[in-house]
Amino acid sequence: MKNVKYGKCVRCGKTYDAVPDLTNCECGGILEIVYDYEYIKTVLTKEKLAARENRSMWRYRELLPVEEDTPDTPLRVGWSPLYEEPRLAEMLGIRKLWVKDDGQNPTASLKDRASAMAVAKALEAGAKTIACSSTGNAASSLAGNAAAAGLKTYIFVPERAPKGKVAQLMIFGANVISVKGNYEETFKMSAAAIDKYGWYNRNAAINPYLSEGKKTVALEIAEQLNWEMPDYLAISVGDGCTIAGVWKGLKDLYAIGFIDKLPRLISGQSTGCCPLNRAIQTGEDWYPMEENTLADSIAVGVPRNADKALMAIRESNGIAVNVTDEEILAAQRLLGKTCGVFGEPAGVTGAAALKKACELGLIEKDATVVSVVTGNGLKDVANAIAAAGEPLHIEPDLDVMVKGFAERGVTVE
Ligand SMILES: *Cc1c(COP(=O)(O)O)cnc(C)c1O
Ligand SMILES: [Zn+2]
Repeated sequence: MKNVKYGKCVRCGKTYDAVPDLTNCECGGILEIVYDYEYIKTVLTKEKLAARENRSMWRYRELLPVEEDTPDTPLRVGWSPLYEEPRLAEMLGIRKLWVKDDGQNPTASLKDRASAMAVAKALEAGAKTIACSSTGNAASSLAGNAAAAGLKTYIFVPERAPKGKVAQLMIFGANVISVKGNYEETFKMSAAAIDKYGWYNRNAAINPYLSEGKKTVALEIAEQLNWEMPDYLAISVGDGCTIAGVWKGLKDLYAIGFIDKLPRLISGQSTGCCPLNRAIQTGEDWYPMEENTLADSIAVGVPRNADKALMAIRESNGIAVNVTDEEILAAQRLLGKTCGVFGEPAGVTGAAALKKACELGLIEKDATVVSVVTGNGLKDVANAIAAAGEPLHIEPDLDVMVKGFAERGVTVE
């Protein structure tokens, strides 16, 4: 890879050759992929990008850690829509708002970006089998992207993973292990199995390439906004790989001169599970927390990418906002009925945090903001019904219909 220099430990600074099966530093720290920006500047320009027909994350190949002859992965991952939302902006009392709907990816979450990268690197490594542990979306995205590329998968999920996500795994033909335990126990079991059988490891906090896949969401936002960056970027946070990836993408673009401003990050976590936000708010180190939230994809009591995530939030002069499950469900309804965007609870936690930040006066009235919806609501229909309520259940009779709506304060006209 001419564009990549090496992997560098974020804790001790030790560097490693960027081989396909690169994992953590011997000190236990997580590696960051370091690029040769001078080289990248010679091969990538804004004009070149604009002329490119590839509408997937691989359009940013020069900024990604893959060999030149590694094929694009088969599913169309990335290039999700970025919608401008003037009515919601007005309701929140900010100047401009865009919603990036990453639930529009092939397996319906932002995790497809990391899984496509995992598949590309597994192919480079000559692996036949990939494994991961996940609260759900890393698993379903890996299963789908690996199936399309002809790779086998072993997937470890905690037993509380919602049915929609488990259904995806089974349809994609994964070997699925539903672990009677929490995410932490699930993670440890997958690590032991990967160690024993030598499978390619898609655990995002171990594999430094995965947040490089996730960073493509930031590259797209920048290009979709014609390289004019917003003041803030709101996103939900679990393990911390996503927000770290977003920050990395922004810094890459800054380093090659494509953008001249870096947004402040708004980190959304649930009050029931917010170890990273707590660290930001108290200025202390993080420590484990229980996993009490219905936003299953971000119910991570022991975040595996705390180092990179905390660094990203702090470097960006970011804001950590905790929201209750009720506030998450309210944001789910709000995005649905104002924007036509259906996010899963974890998918809209960034938007819920943005709404709360506006209410608390934490951000300025003339601010411009991008809110990323990270996963699709159809994955977890039970919680969506809990958020939005039931329809009128009636006999086929128009008068009963009119009366029923009247009881809900709706005039049929
Ligand atoms: C995984 C996930 C997140 C959080 O990403 P982390 O890298 O774990 O911080 C947010 N939303 C959804 C829908 C996810 O699946
Ligand atoms: Zn180290």
